Amino acid sequence: MNRRVSAITPSITLGITAKAKELAAAGRTIFSFAAGEPDFDTPEHIKAAAVEALGKGLTKYTPTAGALELRKAIAAKLENENGIKTPPAQVVVSCGAKHSLFNLVLALCDEGDEVILPAPYWLSYPEMMRVAGADSVVVQCSQENDFKMTPDEFAAAITPRTRAVIINSPSNPIGGVYSEEELRAIAEVALKHRIYVISDEIYEKMTYDGCRHFSIASISDEMAALTITVNGFSKAYSMTGWRLGYLTGAREIVDAVDALQSHSTSGPTTFAQFAAIAALTGTQAPLQEMVAAFDERRNYMYERLTSIAGVTCVRPQGAFYMLPDIGEAGMDSVTFSEKLITDTGVAVVPGAAFGNDRTVRLSYACSMQNIENGLDRLESFIKAL
Ligand SMILES: *Cc1c(COP(=O)(O)O)cnc(C)c1O
Repeated sequence: MNRRVSAITPSITLGITAKAKELAAAGRTIFSFAAGEPDFDTPEHIKAAAVEALGKGLTKYTPTAGALELRKAIAAKLENENGIKTPPAQVVVSCGAKHSLFNLVLALCDEGDEVILPAPYWLSYPEMMRVAGADSVVVQCSQENDFKMTPDEFAAAITPRTRAVIINSPSNPIGGVYSEEELRAIAEVALKHRIYVISDEIYEKMTYDGCRHFSIASISDEMAALTITVNGFSKAYSMTGWRLGYLTGAREIVDAVDALQSHSTSGPTTFAQFAAIAALTGTQAPLQEMVAAFDERRNYMYERLTSIAGVTCVRPQGAFYMLPDIGEAGMDSVTFSEKLITDTGVAVVPGAAFGNDRTVRLSYACSMQNIENGLDRLESFIKAL
């Protein structure tokens, strides 16, 4: 096997998922907080646009970087909503934001380059680095600072080999949202040391408590040239299975990603791209309804979790996850998660997968009933320890 691919860690979450399936098959009721996607269907008008595209025969290759119509709609969205001015030619659409990130890491990073990764982080980032031969430099952020990386922590992690930093706001697995002020301070450090910022904004539409998402690339032209903004359709439009994401950034980076993609997947599925235009330009009401439902579940889950003695948690302001600290239980996160599912049928994701072994991740992209029943069990489990 290829040396770099052999170095990939098989997903830590698979063990828990397999256990959940095994227990369910044996007739046990499972309360899962492991979901990584919205529990809502793709809105009807988006599905209708895909059907219409099929009817029109939009079933052939598009340009590698995506259909020009879609890239125009994305460029307009980036300018109007994010304050990022980009020509459609500088947008590359890929098979999911994960694919955009993977292409980007391969295009940008050489063997021996370092990429700064604030922890807790999304579990795919370090594996992408491994495949590219780059080294992750993990910055352990403190819960006191809501697990956000400070400018000082960022600066201290920079070496002559640093190529990029990954900022994911709103974040998976924390639900943390960097404020405009915090991002301006991060940008200052990045500009001073000429470090690329990979900004994963996939959860931008899911914010709560009046919190607003801010795009770091919108700070200045200089910052736009140093930032690669990554986004997609999976989360905001419940389109995880459609596989569509995109990125924008400096011309030479976008061209390298385009060239790489031209020899791997080519452009993403054509009729899905036309549905994505409808997602951007059509009604945003289903998105607002979904976010309102998430907000209600978030409030309930947060109150319940933090009322359990020994459990602390950053109050999430975005995405649909929370990451309680269960360190008081005296077990590492994998042992805790395995015991929890075996004893109670409650599935959570061990924080070890995200670079923090004192925590577990709970998703609230599930029904209120699942949340109520699952938390009852989680609470009795922790109390009995
Ligand atoms: C879900 C997710 C993505 C990408 O999802 P795609 O379905 O590939 O578009 C990217 N980053 C984070 C942090 C995510 O949680």
